Amino acid sequence: MVTDASSIRGVLFDVDDTLVDTRGAFRHALASVAVDYLDDADHDELLSAWRADANGWYRAHTRGEMSHKEQRHRRANDLHELFGGPYLDPEAYEVWDESFERYFREGWAPHPDAAGALDALDAAGIPYGGLSNAAHDYQVLKLAACGLSRVPMLVGVDELGVGKPDPRVFALACDRLGFAPDEVAYVGDEFDVDPLAAVRAGLGLGVWIERAGAHSRDVDGLAGDGVPRDGLVRIGSLGDLDGVLGIR
Ligand SMILES: [Mg+2]
Repeated sequence: MVTDASSIRGVLFDVDDTLVDTRGAFRHALASVAVDYLDDADHDELLSAWRADANGWYRAHTRGEMSHKEQRHRRANDLHELFGGPYLDPEAYEVWDESFERYFREGWAPHPDAAGALDALDAAGIPYGGLSNAAHDYQVLKLAACGLSRVPMLVGVDELGVGKPDPRVFALACDRLGFAPDEVAYVGDEFDVDPLAAVRAGLGLGVWIERAGAHSRDVDGLAGDGVPRDGLVRIGSLGDLDGVLGIR
């Protein structure tokens, strides 16, 4: 494990809420759900409840325990139960999801700091790719819609049937990037399944991007000063990645 970034030769990125403003896209989709089903409930509260996923259905999906469709159906009903919407049987859920997915896709947009971070890696000759807990082809579409097609999707959750934090997906993505794990940095917004899981999988550096309003939490020893400790570093913007990697 490195304690500085000098041996990093490649970078893996999480997609949602790291390169893509997925939170904003969910907000857009949930605003539509609010109007159609939830008596226009408070959009911030809806977004917070959706992302909290209190019963952990999405993580169950990433452990291979249920399909993407099943987790979203359960989360839709959890949301309706919390905010007074109708129970969605399978038929009603199809209608719900058609609208939700349409508005979700309409909301896809890159984080404004993504392109510059990729430019810096390009300029330094550092290859990069995507490792995501969503399906591969879906993420290819999403990255393209966000103008980020230059990020090759290396591994999605559907590849091995499990996602992060399973070390096997990190190992496979490093292999496809063409480097040993300890030569690779991983950048993601969810502390436990992204940077911490990456370091536990043997990657050289786990970079936690703590975006305002995203999956923030306090982690002892990560002061946000750009200095890695125990292989982990916290940044507040992808614009700080080049500084962490020493390529600015
Ligand atoms: Mg993410």
